Amino acid sequence: MRVDFKKIKNKTNKFKIEKDGTKFFGEFSKSKDFVDIKGKLQKNLDVICDRCGKDFLLKVDEEIVLKAHDGVFKGYLEDSDVVEFYDGYLDFDEILNSEIESIKLDYHLCDECKKEKI
Ligand SMILES: [Zn+2]
Repeated sequence: MRVDFKKIKNKTNKFKIEKDGTKFFGEFSKSKDFVDIKGKLQKNLDVICDRCGKDFLLKVDEEIVLKAHDGVFKGYLEDSDVVEFYDGYLDFDEILNSEIESIKLDYHLCDECKKEKI
């Protein structure tokens, strides 16, 4: 789902992506050169337990809050993650993919290892 940055209104807009059991939905609005995105990501993700190496299904249900910037962003925002987009188009599929990639890189424990840890 690609959105033309110039056409984004200052009011709250909604987005929704649903594919292959993945849901990514929420709201976005424009503020100056940024697009504020607040949404939810739900997905069953195949991950590997960092402790025992077993494959297991992780039920992802995460709040996604970030700002997207039109072009290269050189500053630093303390309170928010910033993603950049180019060509004047904000691509929610791309954001979704990068969020999934970063979740994959997190530390995961399968249920059995979680139990052992307690
Ligand atoms: Zn494990």
